[in-house]
Amino acid sequence: MFKHVEPFPGDPILTLNEQFGADPRPNKVNLSIGVYLNDAGKMPAMRAVLAAETALAADLGTRPYLPMEGNAAYRKAVGALTFGDAVPAERIAVAQTLGGSGALKVGGDFIARYFPQATVWVSDPTWDNHHSIFMGCGLKVKKYRYFDAATGLVDFMGMLSALEAMPAGDVVLLHACCHNPTGADLDAQQWREVAALVKRRGLLPFFDMAYQGFGKGVDEDAFPIRHFAAEGIPLFTATSFSKNFSLYGERCGSLSVVCADAQQADNVLGQLKATIRRNYSNPPTHGARIIARVLGDDALCADWRAELEGMRLRVATMRQNLYAALRDRMPDGNFEYLVRQTGMFSYTGLTPEEVASMRAESAVYLVGSGRLCIAALTDATIAPTADAMARVLK
Ligand code: PMP
Repeated sequence: MFKHVEPFPGDPILTLNEQFGADPRPNKVNLSIGVYLNDAGKMPAMRAVLAAETALAADLGTRPYLPMEGNAAYRKAVGALTFGDAVPAERIAVAQTLGGSGALKVGGDFIARYFPQATVWVSDPTWDNHHSIFMGCGLKVKKYRYFDAATGLVDFMGMLSALEAMPAGDVVLLHACCHNPTGADLDAQQWREVAALVKRRGLLPFFDMAYQGFGKGVDEDAFPIRHFAAEGIPLFTATSFSKNFSLYGERCGSLSVVCADAQQADNVLGQLKATIRRNYSNPPTHGARIIARVLGDDALCADWRAELEGMRLRVATMRQNLYAALRDRMPDGNFEYLVRQTGMFSYTGLTPEEVASMRAESAVYLVGSGRLCIAALTDATIAPTADAMARVLK
């Protein structure tokens, strides 16, 4: 029966991670997968998360199914965290989802049903799974100009002319902050220009915010979403709490849709529920209970924000330190991009061959595209990473 089923080649990033696990070299450095590690090279368990979980453990109760749209307290808190007071809550349909990936999938299914003619435009490059998820929803996916390899920053003029040429009603996927894989973000003024263009051209923005708090700060990173919403632009937002709560495996995310009025938001939420029912019926309980408790308690929320700010600053320090280490080794090299990009990743411009050589000769693992996870660097791994990069670049 299954003779025609071809082998799965594996996900490029997850496969690299498996290779890293099997690599016997003791000095190996994994900068491929997108996770935040602390100074000790460990994935943190955040203080507020542990406190909330300990309190919950004393009062677990039963575990009935959640409603299709998820935990009500979680949905309310997530709406407030994402939108601040940019738009009244009754105009936003918020559904709890299985991580940010689940939000993209539920949003993609909704678009395929209600905007079947729309093409989804994603930045070139983008997180590979954007292509797979939206194509899996039966949608057409195309790329828009985004990255300028010469500067390591956004090709803003190229992006504007690409947006200008998109047919009205098409969906444009925008990384709210900490662009994955490049680390190249728009500034506030550029976001205002994009918002004006999107509004004038009648495009439908779909924000992906997987790294809130790792760019400029929790509220600063939500600026584009809040600005678009305040401008009266209907939009989708996929939020992930995998990184900023360090709760990867709990699969916590949400899909928010900003609508023109409360009636539309009600209808949209109803159809999101129908989409969720068709996919997996309802989301899991545990992670949402933790996050609702942290965000709903002033002291826990303040502690979460403080710890996240520390994580953000640690990543910024790692950027500076890698930059300095590379300048020491190659004073004529151009590594400015490292300190001008933001978030957990940098696009180094290293070729697939150079990346392969770093892996083979130095046991330093980057993604083949040249993406380096700054958030996985530690004081101990800066020097070997800089050595490996300098060796292939010299
Ligand atoms: N969007 C982007 C840009 C991401 O980088 C990721 C995670 N790597 C996701 C969405 C998915 O997040 P999650 O792991 O919560 O599904």
